Amino acid sequence: GDKNTPLLRIDAVSVRFGGIVALDGVSFDVRRGQICGLIGPNGAGKSTLFNCLSRLYECSAGRIEFDGHPLTRLPRHRMAGLGIGRTFQNLALFRTMTVRDNVLVGCHSKHHAGFLRNAFRLPGVAAIESQARARADQLIHFLDLDAVADREVADLPFGTQKRVELARALAAEPQLLLLDEPACGLNHEELESLGTLIRDIRDRLNVTVLLVEHHMSLVMGVSDKVVALNFGKKIAEGSPAEVRAHPEVIRAYLGE
Ligand code: ADP
Ligand code: MG
Repeated sequence: GDKNTPLLRIDAVSVRFGGIVALDGVSFDVRRGQICGLIGPNGAGKSTLFNCLSRLYECSAGRIEFDGHPLTRLPRHRMAGLGIGRTFQNLALFRTMTVRDNVLVGCHSKHHAGFLRNAFRLPGVAAIESQARARADQLIHFLDLDAVADREVADLPFGTQKRVELARALAAEPQLLLLDEPACGLNHEELESLGTLIRDIRDRLNVTVLLVEHHMSLVMGVSDKVVALNFGKKIAEGSPAEVRAHPEVIRAYLGE
């Protein structure tokens, strides 16, 4: 896409579940290379928006463009390979597989999609396999998982499992990474390093980040801009300082 086109454009998006309006005409853009925080009290619609972005939910109205193209044109089961990766509020890993194999699953979701785009320039299976292994090793190192690479995920502490989930999401080489409450369940030390890690993901891997997070000092410290939702509506958008001081944001959190 064009350098000036926002990587993500959310335009008047609404999502209804029967009588519940989970998102109500929400619009905002995320530029390439930005870290955008998404905040709001429980039930504000944050996870619903992520589910629309990974095409688990359909928008009832409005439209989402990714890299200048309507998201609805992209096949739902190939979202990871086509540029949008995510982690879940609750972990979604293969618990009886090793760390390395979990990350390899992420690598392969990329190549699967690459097959469709470049059918006539497809490298051989052996080349794909060795590229995937090299990529997995790099990410395992990047996320400080070398010491546990051959351990089963189920045996590892929660904070380590969360880094495995990140490695797997990054393995598909997303342009945009969606992080749903990455600080949830982390201890103090892990929380301290998470901010640096998110910045490194943007700076060293060139990945744009959309971050849902309740931990205010983390989201305000790491984000270039913040969007606040309440009851499905956007109530504020701006720099962390602007959003933190916004009367509607203060009211939304005090009223919780
Ligand atoms: P947040 O992540 O900000 O806490 P959610 O996006 O999970 O909020 O939820 C927003 C609203 O949409 C809530 O009222 C929630 O109950 C409702 N909701 C979310 N997903 C569904 C669903 N699959 N079916 C029915 N209601 C849903
Ligand atoms: Mg949520």
